[in-house]
Amino acid sequence: MTDGVLRVCESCPLPVRQEALSRGWRVIGPGSTEDEVSGCPVSQPASERRRKTRRGRIGVAENPPAGSRVFELYWRNSRFTKSEFKTGHDRAGRMNHFPHTKCLTKKDLLIHAMRKMRAVHGKIYDFLPMSFILPSEYTKFVHAYAAEDDDQVCASAKKSIEGHSGDKSAGRAVWICKPSDLSRGRKIFLIKDLSDLHYDQQYVVQRYVPNPLTIGGYKVDLRVYILVTSMQPLRVHIFRNGLARFGTVKYDDKMQDIDNLFSHLTNSSINKLSNTFDHDKEVIGSGSKWDFGALREWFKSNQLGEAAFATLWARICDISLCTILTALPSKPVSSSCFELFGFDILVDAALRPWLLEVNCAPALSIDGSTDRRVKEPLIRAVYDLVQQQQPVVKTNRRRGLRAIAPKNSKLRPASGKTRICPLPNAGLPPRPATAVAGQKQKGPCAGASAGAATTMTREGQQGASGDDSGTENFRAMAASTEAGQHDDNDYKDDDDDLSRFDCIFPFDETTAQAALLMATCQGQASQRKLAEAIRIIVQEIRKRRRGAMQAECAVSTEVTASR
Ligand code: ADP
Repeated sequence: MTDGVLRVCESCPLPVRQEALSRGWRVIGPGSTEDEVSGCPVSQPASERRRKTRRGRIGVAENPPAGSRVFELYWRNSRFTKSEFKTGHDRAGRMNHFPHTKCLTKKDLLIHAMRKMRAVHGKIYDFLPMSFILPSEYTKFVHAYAAEDDDQVCASAKKSIEGHSGDKSAGRAVWICKPSDLSRGRKIFLIKDLSDLHYDQQYVVQRYVPNPLTIGGYKVDLRVYILVTSMQPLRVHIFRNGLARFGTVKYDDKMQDIDNLFSHLTNSSINKLSNTFDHDKEVIGSGSKWDFGALREWFKSNQLGEAAFATLWARICDISLCTILTALPSKPVSSSCFELFGFDILVDAALRPWLLEVNCAPALSIDGSTDRRVKEPLIRAVYDLVQQQQPVVKTNRRRGLRAIAPKNSKLRPASGKTRICPLPNAGLPPRPATAVAGQKQKGPCAGASAGAATTMTREGQQGASGDDSGTENFRAMAASTEAGQHDDNDYKDDDDDLSRFDCIFPFDETTAQAALLMATCQGQASQRKLAEAIRIIVQEIRKRRRGAMQAECAVSTEVTASR
């Protein structure tokens, strides 16, 4: 008997459907053999399908047989409508988008959100390159352009006095212009001169990061997968594997040919069109992608070392979490949602990660062996985690947060009372210790200053004890982890297993408490409580960052002294 149903839209990626089928699930919707609304085989007459349709629900199939527990997964590339959120929420299933995450996934809204967070929390939010939205911020952009240009021209004039070549335009700041609503590198261009700026739709113009990390002379950026399984309380996971995406023409660091997109953009959809795509390129080989296993090997094999990769990963975890914090809703949202985000992160030569954009529907189609290595395990892990972390809280306007656990469950609060029921296993074991050179690293995220707490393979077994047990769970879990008492359901900390998620939030007791504080956000006090919870979390991230930096400094001093 099937124990799951996947409800899809037309554009649902094939590997997502295939994963459902391999689990023995039914797949319902366009492109499958079952009708989207009634769940009946499309071969049945329409009248029969209509008869079986109940109103007011998305894609409601016949009632599952008594005693069976059918899990429903709704997978759409586009967003759900308000009413779909409402009705889908009543079913024992999960939907693959949260409402209101557009503020992350639209380039212009992301800029606004980041500016707000920067104003409140300071420099920790300095990971988005300086950006302006055109046409509304044209004047501001011109001021920034003039200021940057003056700086650059002064620097290049100084160089020419010192005897370096003094080509004025060579020293100019470069800006990258991207349409707000498009993706996959479409209509992107670079400018040095303001007079080259022409646009016919809303654009984001961003300071071009001039000194990216290059491998074999090719520019590289990273596609990192972040899974948010719950907003209230917040639970964020990072996939250990991901894609390093390369340009297919050597990076032009002198910025002489800014029109060569194969050199300056790393999108696969652009580089697939390059003549050199299939060539065996220096160090990177043919194609334009690596997985993180290969990237880590590259770090290991050159002077940067594996510790540098761990440090970079720690920074990526931090900026990902800081970014997700900007989307936290102040009103309760459906606990049946989850979302897989694709973060595009550019790393500069100093190994500082810059956030370029957040995708709400990262490409999951398989195009080559690297994609297969990364995306198939990714989709499998998403299914596992989403199914394990079933929602246990329900938002009800009249009653506030109310459990939807079975009637006789301890999780279920007395009717009409507002009570928080954290997701099972809301607490997590502490994250691995800070990565420092010379220490053995655990997994790609290890060391993540922090690194992420390893997500249990079968979560939800412990800690579903109801009421405010999130921090209690955390303590118990932390204690058992420290004591090394894992039972069969605990995670197996396999350092080299790239095919799994690590939890990056909550990462300790304080943040677990902040997450619970968020979960209580409702009513008039919601904004204040939410702001307070975010402040606590950002403070913890900052503390961790500082600790990691001190550890790195201490190690580099030691290394220098020993030389
Ligand atoms: P899209 O949504 O069209 O893919 P992105 O913002 O991801 O747009 O940018 C596409 C590519 O352009 C990136 O993969 C990266 O290689 C390059 N890029 C984007 N912004 C910058 C920047 N500020 N500095 C340097 N390179 C950038």
